[in-house]
Amino acid sequence: MLKLLSTISLLFIISFAIAQETVDMQMMQKIKDEEKNNSQIVMIAHNITDVCGPRLTNSPGYNCALDWVTEICTKWGLQNAGREAWGEFGKGWKNEQGTLSLKLPYYENIIAYPVPWCKSTKKAVKCELIMLDQLDSASIDKAGASLKGKIVMIKPGGTTIPDAFKAYAKRFGDSSLDNLPEEYMVTRKQMEGFLPFIKRDYYTRLYMEKKGAVGLVLSSRNSIDGTVFVDGGEGYMKGYEASLPTMKISREDYLKLMRLIQDNKKVELEMNVQNNFYDKDLTGYNVVAEIPGTDPALKSQVVMLGGHLDSWAGGTGATDNGAGCIATLEAIRILKALGIQPRRTIRIALWGGEEQGLYGSFGYVKKHFGDPENMNLKPEAANISAYYNLDNGSGKIRGIHTQGNEAVREIFRAWLEPFKDMGAAGGVTLSNTGSTDHISFDAVGIPGFQFIQDPLEYETRTHHSNMDTYDHLSIDDLKQAAVVIAAFVYNTAQRNDMLPRKPLPKAEKFVFDFDFPI
Ligand SMILES: [Zn+2]
Repeated sequence: MLKLLSTISLLFIISFAIAQETVDMQMMQKIKDEEKNNSQIVMIAHNITDVCGPRLTNSPGYNCALDWVTEICTKWGLQNAGREAWGEFGKGWKNEQGTLSLKLPYYENIIAYPVPWCKSTKKAVKCELIMLDQLDSASIDKAGASLKGKIVMIKPGGTTIPDAFKAYAKRFGDSSLDNLPEEYMVTRKQMEGFLPFIKRDYYTRLYMEKKGAVGLVLSSRNSIDGTVFVDGGEGYMKGYEASLPTMKISREDYLKLMRLIQDNKKVELEMNVQNNFYDKDLTGYNVVAEIPGTDPALKSQVVMLGGHLDSWAGGTGATDNGAGCIATLEAIRILKALGIQPRRTIRIALWGGEEQGLYGSFGYVKKHFGDPENMNLKPEAANISAYYNLDNGSGKIRGIHTQGNEAVREIFRAWLEPFKDMGAAGGVTLSNTGSTDHISFDAVGIPGFQFIQDPLEYETRTHHSNMDTYDHLSIDDLKQAAVVIAAFVYNTAQRNDMLPRKPLPKAEKFVFDFDFPI
């Protein structure tokens, strides 16, 4: 009897829990059908990557993407589409010419990409290559006058390329999804620890130029098969000097140059780097668009979705983070195409300056919701239910990180259930994930979430590399992601209550908020 009673009460609890989080299964099917029959993923992806090109913040490619997103959102019938300033970013930069070749001991082309915001060379410069032990002022002083008129490389940490037997791409196994470890979280303390190294590198490069070096070549340990990882550069900020012409080159080329120098062969390179800086408008912009809410009592409340529109410059930012923009744009298009009349307002925001420190989303949060440094929240902060972000490449959605918000766990489980057949059910982890734009919202206590995505070849091949191009997008995965995001946004917009929140965080300066590099 007791046992039966407890079974009955358990059944009651389960049905109550499910009944509490009702999912409109008919609408979930309509979302799936709209994507299956009328997907615009390919068109969006092509325009954001192939047509606009690299989207370094405040570069012509970034502005192209801002304009295109505004235009397409307006065409789809979204409201209030357009740029929104978030504060001062700094200079734009665009590479116009970037070639490097070996001249001695024989001619060969080198796979090389200029580091953003570096200076141009004076036409093509042909000069000897020398190798320093470290990128520090002691090594520069040791080289003394021999640095003058030379291109410099730094002795690599290792002397091999990555193991070719290791697969590049992977998907998560189902069983790992509920217990993913914390990922990409950076604390302010860790950032304070990194800062001296970043500053040291910046000032060392300025010092190197002062001592007469005409160029610098570098390479990454994880680069293979012509993949070049190229990011960094601080010359975008007003008042900060650009570094000397700097190129990242393929690992295979770099190790060859090292061996030739170690064998006392004379190595000569020809470097031609020509860049344009854009300093007329230093303002940073995001782009936003909305489907206005229709419920008189709830339309002032908002659910947001997005990703960062800016990229690095070695590729066309297809997976970082064209993918997040493509999937969230498609998600809002689906909802608009279905003619839904959301109770709450649905707003997409695609951010700028993410790669330099989540500037666009943080600036937006500060302007609309409040500053984590003092936790003086603005009235709008009480009216935003959630922000959903996508920024881990083009892999399909396998679940979601709740950022430690226990109260949303069962809600999200119910919302993922209809997408079990598409690989999305199950993965609801309490663990945190960081280093992208939902962190700006989380910092002021607004529910901000990042989906769990299959890693594919994001970390190994495309992230910040010259291979971050359209052909490395998985179109089918993006279609799935757009469907799941559309469902989450729809459910958040229609729910009777806003999503439950964690307790407000303590006032603390934002993790990436530094007066860099001084
Ligand atoms: Zn990113």
